[in-house]
Amino acid sequence: MRPIRPGDRGPAVTEIRGVLTGLDLLPSAPTGDDDDFDAATERAVRAFQQSRGLSVDGRVGAETWRALDAARWRLGARTLYHAVPEPLIGEDVRSLQERLLEMGYDVGRADAIYGVRTSRAVAQFQREMGLKPDGSCGPYTMGALRRLGRKVVGGRPQWLRESDAIRQTGPALVGRIVVIDPGHGGTDPGVVVPDGPLRWTESDLVHDLASRLEGRLAASGVRVQLTRGPAPGSCLPDVERAQLANSLGADVFISLHTDGHANPEAEGVATYHYGTDNGVTSATGERLAGLVQREIVARTGLRDCRTHAKTWDLLRLTRMPAVRVEVGYLTSPADRGRLIDPCFRDRIVEAIVAAVQRMYFPVERDVPTGSIDVSELRAAVAAGRVATA
Ligand SMILES: [Zn+2]
Repeated sequence: MRPIRPGDRGPAVTEIRGVLTGLDLLPSAPTGDDDDFDAATERAVRAFQQSRGLSVDGRVGAETWRALDAARWRLGARTLYHAVPEPLIGEDVRSLQERLLEMGYDVGRADAIYGVRTSRAVAQFQREMGLKPDGSCGPYTMGALRRLGRKVVGGRPQWLRESDAIRQTGPALVGRIVVIDPGHGGTDPGVVVPDGPLRWTESDLVHDLASRLEGRLAASGVRVQLTRGPAPGSCLPDVERAQLANSLGADVFISLHTDGHANPEAEGVATYHYGTDNGVTSATGERLAGLVQREIVARTGLRDCRTHAKTWDLLRLTRMPAVRVEVGYLTSPADRGRLIDPCFRDRIVEAIVAAVQRMYFPVERDVPTGSIDVSELRAAVAAGRVATA
């Protein structure tokens, strides 16, 4: 779909403006002038994109459209249930999930999708409230939720739950499944930079990183899957990359990209995890992002552009700790000079292996950044010992 942009007119613009007005981001237009994508509409779209962790470009493409469509729903405005095969999606579902999470029910991640786990949590809540446990949220269940108010305040039950699940599985890397996702590929090269007679593409560089990472992790006893080969026929959409990781039952998902910017001075590494501006976050995703970011900065000297919460499909739909790393700007001569050096790429890979290992150390036994010797890890596995140090 072609993005709807500033200057456009028509019924689609009327619809967009309607949703933005409902969210109090835009005053309602004078009658007859509500189909104009004017400057105020663009500002409102940008504010909306910012609030949802979407790329802020002031246009309504497919991703922003889906988010707007889901944003119409307020909790209580419709009955929620587990629909098959197309689940209900919306802000009302997210509100319900956050509410259940606060009360200690296990809905997984508040991803705005009314799936099996949400339905099961609702049924459990209904049973405990003496209601018919049908797993759907209609007027009676809503009433019970309202009467109950907020029982648990200030805690981060999701954080505790996810960390516990990781701790219980122990510190060994052997047998874990890590899915590595080299970004782009096929018809989509990602960032492309002609450098003298050479042409560097993001898709080639990140695939090289992915295969190095595959080798290192496999040597530590990890089962590794890549989402694509070096030259796929077409580019796999992010939704399908997430589904692939879910279907493989991955323990960790790492997406690799390089960044690009019109300004050649933009440089550095940034890591993204799932989360929204109102504080909902994948705690383990956030932890993994922090570890990856710190290890890369410590071991490579790339500028620290920090970690950020995003609601991108790739991070939202994956059910395991998932991060996307932008390892340097291909458009920066300084970063590019390092990235095209295979030894430098090995250092990035070591940093990521160390971060994955630290994910499985209990928090209180964690080690200082930059201190894990990845080759010792491999030796320990080779010697048949469990990789714990
Ligand atoms: Zn990219």
